[in-house]
Amino acid sequence: MGELLYLEDVVSLACDRERCVGCGMCVIVCPHAVFELREGRAHMAARNRCMECGACMRNCPTGAISVEAGEGCVRGVINELLGIEGPCC
Ligand code: SF4
Ligand code: SF4
Repeated sequence: MGELLYLEDVVSLACDRERCVGCGMCVIVCPHAVFELREGRAHMAARNRCMECGACMRNCPTGAISVEAGEGCVRGVINELLGIEGPCC
């Protein structure tokens, strides 16, 4: 299989680094290696790889992460229907 392609900027994933305590749970549980630790805090190294499974949000002890399950694809479809520029699923 060739290299996988990901849609740009359609995922709802957000991380508030001010609330992060650097426990590393998001790095451990993410199946797509979206997060890494930088200077003791979570960093979204590959945000577009997120499939919005919600595992990081559920396991973050401080509520630093938010993500709407499945919203990224829906947002892409709605954008296309409304004629808004951007990628679509
Ligand atoms: S929602 Fe799932 S795929 Fe996306 S960053 Fe969190 S654990 Fe990774
Ligand atoms: S799970 Fe939450 S507190 Fe832990 S490293 Fe990730 S964002 Fe920071």
